[in-house]
Amino acid sequence: TDYLQRIDTHRDDNIFTAVFHDEAMVRARELDSKLQRGEAPGKLFGMPIAIKDNISMKGAPLGCASKILAGYESVYDATVIERMLAEDAIFVGRTNMDEFAMGSSNENSSIGPVPNPYDKTRVPGGSSGGSAAAVAGDLAMVALGSDTGGSVRQPAGFCNIVGLKPTYGRISRYGLVAFASSFDQIGLLAANCDDAALVLGVIAGKDEHDATSSHHDVPEYDATMDHVSLEGLRIGVPRAFFPESLNADVAGVVKAGLKRLEEAGAELVEIDLPESDYAIAAYYILVTAEASSNLARFDGARYGYRSPDSPDLSSMYVNSRTEGFGAEVKRRIMLGTYVLSAGYYDTYYKKAQQVRRVFQDKYREAFEKVDVIFGPTSPFPPFGIGDKMDNPLEMYLADVFTVPASIVGMPAISVPVGFDSLGLPVGVHLICNFFEEGKMLGIARHLQ
Ligand code: GLN
Repeated sequence: TDYLQRIDTHRDDNIFTAVFHDEAMVRARELDSKLQRGEAPGKLFGMPIAIKDNISMKGAPLGCASKILAGYESVYDATVIERMLAEDAIFVGRTNMDEFAMGSSNENSSIGPVPNPYDKTRVPGGSSGGSAAAVAGDLAMVALGSDTGGSVRQPAGFCNIVGLKPTYGRISRYGLVAFASSFDQIGLLAANCDDAALVLGVIAGKDEHDATSSHHDVPEYDATMDHVSLEGLRIGVPRAFFPESLNADVAGVVKAGLKRLEEAGAELVEIDLPESDYAIAAYYILVTAEASSNLARFDGARYGYRSPDSPDLSSMYVNSRTEGFGAEVKRRIMLGTYVLSAGYYDTYYKKAQQVRRVFQDKYREAFEKVDVIFGPTSPFPPFGIGDKMDNPLEMYLADVFTVPASIVGMPAISVPVGFDSLGLPVGVHLICNFFEEGKMLGIARHLQ
């Protein structure tokens, strides 16, 4: 009830696309009677959870903050939802986002932006901006987001909470609306590392509905975390994550965090990684290519919105897509179609795949020398609403430090580390080797 009341008082902040008032109350009563019957409580017993508007939950609207899905309801539960329900979680609502998870500010939403909880004139980050604001405002204990190039980590950094993107394949994507399938992962936004570890343990693991989900064992994350000591831990500090252009305030706060780890016994190791700008260039070719194909299914016939005045089938397709998609989504579909077209495939798409491979090789090599890679989550603090909307390239650079982990498929986390001179949150970004989420959470906890 407390959570639902707080959600009501934050109504103007546009954080939720739907609130499950009645359903959450019914569920709470059910759980209560379960306890009265003497049944053992699940691992997430009574935990209030918010879900990003691109994850399916049976019978609930699924909108991806897009007009093209207006009126659409999910017909099945995503695997993550099923697993959380089995452990007695309570879902409180669905959260605002950038349309189809494309963006870094939550401004590309059909229902409008979300204010940053620390300064209402600024953005909360994106694309999981609603999920981050929900956890930061204590409107949910944990929120599910999706992270294709930074959409969980960057908003977590901007809202002073923890945001975790797992290893590619660690969490089933079944029920997550696809944006760029070889990058997309469901991730977690939480107030602290312990909550994130608890939920990760419940939702991680093989799922027969997602062929890319991994058989790798799911460890007891809380126990793994407890065993992580900073004594002798090798922290990789790449020059690529501390470029000249890095905001000085952000650099100062992040380096102070690094110093704390060093003083607690960690060893700092300078490492060489490819410039992150190349990751951004490759990323925007590969994800737009994948998006142009994934979003072909929204044609006005199968889901949600259909243009009302279309005399024939092909104009119905064209009009529904023209009216249904926002500007950024259209830009990406066009870019993706272009880079995949005959004659350009080798120049763009194939080149970008090669860049991806180089990043994978270099990051693997780096982990022969270090336990974790350290850097800032974002090159600048939360920016003003409207500031970057006319300049997509600048907006894309918001992800310069988060995209590399998505290119290589390794787990990464953003953890709050302090505030800049204006009192805006700054996050540290840690990357670990494949399937080392437990160790990563353990290191991150030392920073919190
Ligand atoms: N901001 C990045 C993009 O627009 C990342 C989005 C995401 O991770 N879903 O593609």
